[in-house]
Amino acid sequence: MTYFIFVTGGVLSSVGKGILTASIGKMIQARGFKVSAIKIDPYLNVDAGTMNPLVHGEVFVTEDGGETDLDIGHYERFLNTNLNKENNITTGQIYQTVIERERRGDYLGLCVQVVPHITDEIKRRIKLVAEKSNADFIIVEVGGTVGDIESQPFLEAIRQMALEHPGRTLFIHIALVPILDVTGEQKTKPLQHSINELRRIGIQPHIIVARCKVSLDHEVKRKIALFGNVPDEAVFTSYNVDYIYELPVILDSQGMGDYICKLLGLHSHKANWDDWLGIINSFKRPTVKVSIALCGKYVKTTDAYISINEALKHAAASLDVGVNIEFVDVEKIERKRLDVSILSRFDGVVIPPGFGARGALGKLEAIRFTRENNIPLLGICFGMQLSIVEFARNVLGLKNANTTEIDPNTPYPVVDLLPEQREVLFKGGTMRLGSYPIILIDGTLAYSLYKRKIIYERHRHRYEVNKDYLETLASHGLIVSGYSLNDQRAEFIELSSHPFFLCTQTHPEYKSRPGNPSPVYIGLIRASIERLKSRKHTS
Ligand code: GLN
Repeated sequence: MTYFIFVTGGVLSSVGKGILTASIGKMIQARGFKVSAIKIDPYLNVDAGTMNPLVHGEVFVTEDGGETDLDIGHYERFLNTNLNKENNITTGQIYQTVIERERRGDYLGLCVQVVPHITDEIKRRIKLVAEKSNADFIIVEVGGTVGDIESQPFLEAIRQMALEHPGRTLFIHIALVPILDVTGEQKTKPLQHSINELRRIGIQPHIIVARCKVSLDHEVKRKIALFGNVPDEAVFTSYNVDYIYELPVILDSQGMGDYICKLLGLHSHKANWDDWLGIINSFKRPTVKVSIALCGKYVKTTDAYISINEALKHAAASLDVGVNIEFVDVEKIERKRLDVSILSRFDGVVIPPGFGARGALGKLEAIRFTRENNIPLLGICFGMQLSIVEFARNVLGLKNANTTEIDPNTPYPVVDLLPEQREVLFKGGTMRLGSYPIILIDGTLAYSLYKRKIIYERHRHRYEVNKDYLETLASHGLIVSGYSLNDQRAEFIELSSHPFFLCTQTHPEYKSRPGNPSPVYIGLIRASIERLKSRKHTS
């Protein structure tokens, strides 16, 4: 028997609904239940793969190659579990299925409508996740804010689910409670309106979470309860925290986990936070911080590289240090508005994933400087491909060497399209995606980090290092330390003459978890600690 908890949001987006959903899951998991989570995205894209990370944030890749919303990453990290493509439902998927069915003739004679056909398909997909995951609880986050045109069919579908599964569904609503600058007053009116909006379509929330900078005043809480039509004990505050992983514990200490269980008649389950508190402490304890430069072009939002950020924090905490992550805008380096020598101030550098020519010259400059000055470097995906380009140009002397993604006519295509991609016409969901096995070469840095021969990491790319150049690269000291098991593709490269120069075609950040960090990120942070020590020594 599965319980369903639906999380909706009000007033405005970015109130931390994803973190709340993950935290609710964690509170339930801490009580010994099996939990899975679904993110509903009411846009028409079939998946997040074709969206701009500056607007929408990072695309999170699952083991099975789903290009999903970044909230799936939060769920995986909080719940320490792997989710699938199906855990991210979009309007695009729903309509695509219903329209395909209509064309096949499955609805012959019927007028195909939002209710019941679209809503039925939404419910079918939610139940499918419940069935496949075998979870006791499914936490479903409805993206967007109530009142949006796009989310209407989803809200209608979850309203119907409550009717079909009496006693097994809960609605939790989170909305912003702003504080007025002048008077310091906590204002509840926007939240009240968003609850009214929900009730108008037949959903009465069981629990209300106020997103407020600070803890709610007692009177404000009572007012929210009264207007929200819930008891006082059903109102909680999600206030600002230093570490997102603290939120489940904070909400639980307000009584939320017990209250959820009480509503569902699951009284006897006590939470065990021992492991999680240990993890939180590992983030809080360190007094020394290493500084890492993230040299990217999507620097205007922290969400664009969120898994990399988290992976760096996980690795640092496990080595008993903190980490300061600073975004360095490669376009500024490219346009000479920022001198690349700024990188010498950092203990380590990450060249993140990316697409296209914009900012690539800046990244190449950053790689050159980092390589020549022995600064620890981790290159991810496009970061690895550009490291190959940089090495080919500046060490092998191959003028205008490039990836064919940027220059299809380069005389030295050191990075080129994957052979199977030549036939691919569609852009959506057609990259080399998801988890593939990799064989690591004994005696290399990569091997020393993973400490095993066969590893699995997730992928998202169309281009790869051109095998024709591997021998020449190796003769100059750039070696391949990991190959794809099935087709000998370069998956890891490194420079033995450098204190830490490791690049990978994969995205190890997607698998990094608090308390169980990714080996390559541990490697980078460890090397950064060494650099920090030696810098202190010389200064
Ligand atoms: N644009 C590159 C490719 O498609 C790298 C992609 C990435 O960094 N995820 O291969």
